[in-house]
Amino acid sequence: MDITIYTPIKPFETSEELSVVVATQNRPDSVLFRELADLLDTLGYHVLKVFYQNSSKRNPRYFMGKGKLGEIADYLKTASADLVIIDHNLKPIQIFNAQEILRTDVFDRVRVILEIFVRNARSMEAKLQVELASLRYEIPLVREWIHQSKTGEHPGFRTGGEFQVSQYLDGINNRSRRIEEKLGRIKAARQLRRERKRGRGSYNVALAGYTNAGKTSLLNALSDEEGDVKDRFFTTLSTRTRRMNRGGLPILITDTIGFIQYMPPYLVQAFRSTLEEIFFSDVIVLVVDVSDDMKEIYRKMITSFDILLRERDGPPIICAFNKTDLLERKEAEAKIHEIKTRLGEAGYPMEGSIHCSASEGRNLEDMADSIRNALPDMAELILVVHDIVMHRSLESEIRERFEVLGANSHDGNENGGMAFRVRGSRIDMERFAAEHADRVELLGGDR
Ligand code: GDP
Ligand code: MG
Repeated sequence: MDITIYTPIKPFETSEELSVVVATQNRPDSVLFRELADLLDTLGYHVLKVFYQNSSKRNPRYFMGKGKLGEIADYLKTASADLVIIDHNLKPIQIFNAQEILRTDVFDRVRVILEIFVRNARSMEAKLQVELASLRYEIPLVREWIHQSKTGEHPGFRTGGEFQVSQYLDGINNRSRRIEEKLGRIKAARQLRRERKRGRGSYNVALAGYTNAGKTSLLNALSDEEGDVKDRFFTTLSTRTRRMNRGGLPILITDTIGFIQYMPPYLVQAFRSTLEEIFFSDVIVLVVDVSDDMKEIYRKMITSFDILLRERDGPPIICAFNKTDLLERKEAEAKIHEIKTRLGEAGYPMEGSIHCSASEGRNLEDMADSIRNALPDMAELILVVHDIVMHRSLESEIRERFEVLGANSHDGNENGGMAFRVRGSRIDMERFAAEHADRVELLGGDR
């Protein structure tokens, strides 16, 4: 059923580069505002102007004060802005009221986060999770729209339109239910594991951490720029993968979408599903901004560990204490020492952690060493697939995941099998054998 009505909601996945105006009551140097600026940067939005207002001027009808909105409306008469972003999680009514005064689309903070998720979701599960979160965002907006039409607050929306909007709402509700059912089935099938693709015979390192910690800078510092790897290992994690340019080992590094501090609970599941693939990397580097104050550092690190240590056999985690150049040497050392001691005592993984400055290129050799030390051994082993006729698909999976050096028939059992001599990460081979324990055997390993 396709209903074309004017809905008050701009469609998602506005992938063009938008020019935006930002209205905020968070100080420009506040964590919240810096995070929003970074999210907008990630989206490639061009910020034309930021309107700051002291929070004492807050107006419950629009969130921002009416005077400030008037100022913005005046500005919009001459500027060619595509939308206005209000730096807060707004109520639907506040979005509508602000849209009416500004005569342009208004996004709040949640909407900005959703835009990032929409762009970054690649696997079926991530896409569904994100769509579900988007619908959950949309439903109260449509409800509010219906409410306004009933109370006649919205001219230009009468004469049967009300009926169509309720139909639209029913459509959204049905779609949410169908997605929830589908998600249940996908989970059961562990689809994600099979969707994995990997750069043949390379190790994969994932950079994790909060927005603004320096993940992208570290990726640039450890790799040759303009060297993006096309055939990426991660399909749901965002951004780029590059080859590490230090040491001899074939190592691919992937940047990921950062953890976002102020995220409403109903977005968490969507975020997790875009992050899921991080657990398929060989090493996770948790990038920490060591110039934050200690309270902030602890809070962020513990939250990160809670997410990253969720998977029992997950990859090893190395902490990269970044931005040391912003501190006096003594201060940086003291801070890092205290963090390592306290979190180490609390049982968090601190081995291999390292300090660095991505932007100054400091200590990157040690950083690379630390990554190499955490990697599982590159190994040449034999994978035996029993009953090769029944399990042809396993052969193509082996060829996709590892470098195959040779293949021989293997008649250890009556149905016949194949033995593949393969090169790749040992841990990954062990995982592969474990995933298919009933028909795959790993030979030649000492462990
Ligand atoms: P991401 O959000 O984790 O990808 O962080 P970015 O790599 O985009 O960096 C966020 C901000 O911190 C940018 O303005 C960087 O220039 C800055 N930055 C990153 N690494 C360093 C560093 O080692 N020292 C300093 N002073 N700034 C850094
Ligand atoms: Mg980044």
